[in-house]
Amino acid sequence: MNCLFCKISDKEIPSKIVYEDERVFAFEDINPQAPIHILVVPRKHVATVLEATPEDNELIGQLFQVANKIAKDRGVAERGFRLVMNCNRESGQTVFHIHLHLLAGRIMHWPPG
Ligand code: 5GP
Ligand code: ZN
Repeated sequence: MNCLFCKISDKEIPSKIVYEDERVFAFEDINPQAPIHILVVPRKHVATVLEATPEDNELIGQLFQVANKIAKDRGVAERGFRLVMNCNRESGQTVFHIHLHLLAGRIMHWPPG
């Protein structure tokens, strides 16, 4: 499968990994939109959140646990942070392997652009 994030998971493509275990990994976004911009990704290929099944519930929960841990480790948990998962074209999804964006380190605006 020609998937960028599967290749990053397999280390065929280098990235700045900040966390990894058997099921989830996290790395610095190449084009950061905030002082902290990390992508938290399941190793399992799921193209969009629409393809996630009840079997994936625990896995998707782990994405949030990893994001929480990174936010605490980076010292932004109390200040606040934003978690975003885009789905399909109008949201701006460009990589079709689900990922949670962890954005922090500046004031976030609402509604998002
Ligand atoms: P999406 O737009 O699908 O929600 O998010 C995809 C994210 O992946 C974007 O924020 C983009 O900057 C990031 N990205 C795309 N290609 C690469 C890459 O090769 N390496 C890294 N580290 N991030 C990437
Ligand atoms: Zn993939």
